[in-house]
Amino acid sequence: MEKAGVTRAVSAMEAFEKLEKVGEGTYGKVYRARERATGRIVALKKTRLHEDEEGVPPTTLREVSILRMLSRDPHVVRLMDVKQGQNKEGKTVLYLVFEYMDTDLKKFIRSFRQSGEDIPANTVKCLMFQLCKGVAFCHGHGILHRDLKPHNLLMDRKTMMLKIADLGLARAFTVPIKKYTHEILTLWYRAPEVLLGSTHYSTAVDMWSVACIFAELVTKQALFPGDSELQQLLHIFRLLGTPNEEVWPGVSKLMNWHEYPQWSPQNLSTSVPNLDKDGLDLLAQMLQYEPSKRISAKKAMEHPYFDDLNKDSL
Ligand code: AMP
Repeated sequence: MEKAGVTRAVSAMEAFEKLEKVGEGTYGKVYRARERATGRIVALKKTRLHEDEEGVPPTTLREVSILRMLSRDPHVVRLMDVKQGQNKEGKTVLYLVFEYMDTDLKKFIRSFRQSGEDIPANTVKCLMFQLCKGVAFCHGHGILHRDLKPHNLLMDRKTMMLKIADLGLARAFTVPIKKYTHEILTLWYRAPEVLLGSTHYSTAVDMWSVACIFAELVTKQALFPGDSELQQLLHIFRLLGTPNEEVWPGVSKLMNWHEYPQWSPQNLSTSVPNLDKDGLDLLAQMLQYEPSKRISAKKAMEHPYFDDLNKDSL
């Protein structure tokens, strides 16, 4: 039986040989695996469905087809197959089969931090362009990521290809109740309107995350490393100034708004000293407080910062 391209598998082990666990995402474990029929190396993502669901709910099938559609873009990780199976307790699980990527941006940044080297300026530019391109493609199809961070940007170290992962699953799969042991749910890339309790999410929430990732690529340190929602906001306010009705009309009406210490905006170059003038200008446009003023991914791709990049190969 096949429904929206989801094929049944009594056990995923029939078709795949699990080689090792490569990561643990928000929705489940990720394994490097070998497809028995072809010998091809893939990433196998096992996802639980909502506890009370029997079979695969239609919303999930919809998410899967969105994911399939989005993964046509070269900067979105390719979903090759989806298999439905059951775990030991008889609960339905889905195995998402993705192309295998050898690293992610979190590991990539960490390796430079450990060696003490900077990520070459042109590499930062090339990765940022690909990120904007992938995000523009998703936004062009009306899909928000909502949780962009270095950990779910996959990379091929040889070709420097960057691909967005963990897309479009947010609504279909169980929201994790407990945090996984290694991965703490991070707030570092979360837009201020989300932190302040806005219920109207827009594509701008992803652009905020893109900005934080941009700065982190340059400095190898998180731009706003908050460890609570309040601390996260205070990190942002200390650099960009405490927002008010003048710079961000409506801000004081947001659900979580309180009185905060008053800071005035700092120059972005104080936090991101190694970025050139064009880069700082683009970063500033991505860090606009008012979501509707924040630059879009498509516009970002046309920014002068990318003028000297050879875009043909990307
Ligand atoms: P995710 O659930 O997508 O956030 O994935 C969690 C971690 O699993 C990532 O940070 C990667 O280290 C790894 N991972 C996810 N997808 C892949 C893939 N397609 N290829 C290789 N590793 C992956």
